[in-house]
Amino acid sequence: TFMELVKKVCRRGTEAADSIAIRAEHKSYSYKQLISSAWEISDLLCNSGLETVDGVRGRRHLGGARIGIVAKPSAEFVAGILATWFSGGVAVPLALSYPETELLHVMNDAEISMVLSTEDHQQLMQSVAAKCAAQFSLILSVHRISSQESVHDHPQVEEIALDKGDDPALIIYTSGTTGKPKGAVHTHKSITAQALLYDAYSKDQFKLWQKLGNTHPLINFSIVYRYIISIKLQLSCLLFRIANDMGSTVEFMPKFSVRGIWQRWRESYPPNGSKADDAITVFTGVPTIYSRLIQGYEAMDPDQQAASASAARQLRLTMSGSSALPLPVMQEWEAITGHRLLERYGMTEFVMAISNPLRGVRKAGTVGKPFPGVQVKIAEDPNENDTTGVGELCIKSPSMFKEYWKLPQVTEDSFTEDGFFRTGDAGKIDEDGYYVILGRTSADIMKVGGYKLSALEIESALLEHPVVAECCVLGLPDKTYGEAVCAIIVLEEAAKRKQESSKPAISLEELCEWAKDKLAPYKLPTRLFLWESLPRNAMGKVNKKELKKVLAAE
Ligand code: ATP
Ligand code: MG
Repeated sequence: TFMELVKKVCRRGTEAADSIAIRAEHKSYSYKQLISSAWEISDLLCNSGLETVDGVRGRRHLGGARIGIVAKPSAEFVAGILATWFSGGVAVPLALSYPETELLHVMNDAEISMVLSTEDHQQLMQSVAAKCAAQFSLILSVHRISSQESVHDHPQVEEIALDKGDDPALIIYTSGTTGKPKGAVHTHKSITAQALLYDAYSKDQFKLWQKLGNTHPLINFSIVYRYIISIKLQLSCLLFRIANDMGSTVEFMPKFSVRGIWQRWRESYPPNGSKADDAITVFTGVPTIYSRLIQGYEAMDPDQQAASASAARQLRLTMSGSSALPLPVMQEWEAITGHRLLERYGMTEFVMAISNPLRGVRKAGTVGKPFPGVQVKIAEDPNENDTTGVGELCIKSPSMFKEYWKLPQVTEDSFTEDGFFRTGDAGKIDEDGYYVILGRTSADIMKVGGYKLSALEIESALLEHPVVAECCVLGLPDKTYGEAVCAIIVLEEAAKRKQESSKPAISLEELCEWAKDKLAPYKLPTRLFLWESLPRNAMGKVNKKELKKVLAAE
């Protein structure tokens, strides 16, 4: 279990315990500091007046009470999660990007007993907690401890209960792209399995990096927060680090800033050819982050562009996931940084399961192959005698969540008879065995005439048009064809400025004329909307179901 992994780190002696686990806002925290602080928080938590039950070796614990964790991406955040686990509680990370109503929804839904927060969110969280009768506490702090102290001297470390495998550890809410966020319950076992999956998958590949002459390989996962996915990533990276002790550090960026990211890279690799000790080596983000980084780059003056591109080239790896990576973004990113984005596929429910390789071919438009230990099958719709090989992706993985919190029927409906999880995403395998995601069966697969079209494919093509900054394609009801392809477009800034009030920057006819070499005639949009922006959720995703309703009513 995860607790065993923690113990492993503790037992490994001072070198492992003193290595840097987390860096944030120019401060570094070792494993020792993190784990010791988590123990202290855990003691406070168990003595905070919450109901406790008898645990292993006389230590009382919280018996599965839900503890909400509110902190920007920081050592405090991670210590809060560890503390909850040390106390026998279930951690529920609350995203700061949630508006208050959504925060309340999640807190009520999870029946949170106590919210742990850092000082910067005291006011908001105190008032929200009061509204749902949860206790509130400010005990989330990570302090510096003296160098003589060592974690394995800490008496309780050996007392961590080891029989927690199937107990819930974490409830992570889904992004809410297709409805209200659902709480995915992960157990100690499923979380640990996720860490080990990463480990198995990466061992070879990361070992190669060590051989390349780095005596102290430092893999820095620089994680851009703001999006709730990073809560998952933060944990995964940390677990990965704990699982294989590769000397990696997770760096958090407390606030998403395009300029801040470019600057951090330039500081990592200054123009004189040197490399900073704390240089970022790996970066991961969602596709909208890359488009914004590209826009930020384009707005720089030539000198700064040169310095930025040269720095970015020296990163080892940039990764993308959590929604479809549009081809133009991938191409522009490669043109600027020389990096081919490594695209992968995951969900809150099982974290990461399919990935393009670190070494080997990263195929554009695909999410690669399953991690070892993960089974994927494509369930074709038996009612349609389809021979296209397109169907719903179904997944079996040791990292699979246990259930949706308080939604037994939804949980039951989400699994096939032979235990595969139905992802709700349509996909197929290409000739090289790489998986292609065609979008959500519920919102991205349009039925036009006799054809089944993928909105993602059409979006990717339209995004190549020079005036198109963002694009969303969906099917609207149509009397003749069943559904009609409808495109919503947000213009590039320059095109917006040029646009005269009388004449739109692009018409449906012009767009189709331009796109006809890229898309078959039946895939061309028949309706076009020009919008100022797209309504996106905290994860940067568009709720198409909702949009369809709005547009169909127009
Ligand atoms: P909700 O379940 O509440 O509607 P959500 O599904 O967006 O929200 P997440 O678990 O964050 O919540 O996202 C998982 C989904 O993201 C997948 O089901 C898939 O549709 C999409 N996704 C993830 N990675 C990729 C990718 N590389 N390409 C295309 N889609 C992806
Ligand atoms: Mg989902």
